Amino acid sequence: MRKPIIVGNWKMNKTPSEALAFMKGIEEVLTGNEAADYGVGAPYVDLDVCVKNAKNLIIAAENCNEKDSGAYTGEVSVPMLKEVGITYCIIGHSERRTYYNETNEACALKAKRLLADNIIPILCIGETEAEYDAGNTADVIKTQLAGSLAGLTADEVAKMVIAYEPIWAIGTGKSATKEIAEDCCKLARDTVKALYNEATGEAVRVQYGGSVKPDNIKEYMACEDIDGALIGGASLKVESFKEIIDATK
Ligand code: PEP
Repeated sequence: MRKPIIVGNWKMNKTPSEALAFMKGIEEVLTGNEAADYGVGAPYVDLDVCVKNAKNLIIAAENCNEKDSGAYTGEVSVPMLKEVGITYCIIGHSERRTYYNETNEACALKAKRLLADNIIPILCIGETEAEYDAGNTADVIKTQLAGSLAGLTADEVAKMVIAYEPIWAIGTGKSATKEIAEDCCKLARDTVKALYNEATGEAVRVQYGGSVKPDNIKEYMACEDIDGALIGGASLKVESFKEIIDATK
């Protein structure tokens, strides 16, 4: 039985004081007895204040470097995240793939390093609008998964979260239909089964992401192969994130 996981992605939003205000507002909503896991991905400088004020909310980093230390100006390592108390980390978000050239190979190295410290990677995959229009969605999902999971064991992959996020649905208000989202999340799961085994595919949690809002979250959560959501815009305000929690807890 997979426990659903709903994670906000703040991207490059919220100063530490704004993050603190969000934490104070949201934590009073959560009891820790919800049927799903809830979390937020926050900018590096917000992580400490978020962790210190989190009782029931998972705090995720939005990126990491796969090396432990060294001359990599501006980067943040997994041991640094670990010491701050981070338990999840988003990797391979389409914005990082597009603007910072994050490759499948880099995702695989980051996932391996995170898992070595028991930090759960939330691996993002998904096709562009042109790839969708050309009918290449399935190929993109399979290629991204094969590359981004390279070198990982079945036990490691079983712990991970995969976020299927069609790029044409991110921040556009044009969410995928529940049928498309379910088909693609199922394909991601079936790809894990083909790369590893049945049990690993059944264990891995697969989220849908792309313009998820309080008024459409329930239809995604009702789908068999969708185990939660990665949510950008609607995770920024306490009110809308609270509505999402209320709709799914
Ligand atoms: C995201 O940032 O991963 C995302 C899905 O954003 P939004 O919910 O705003 O589309």
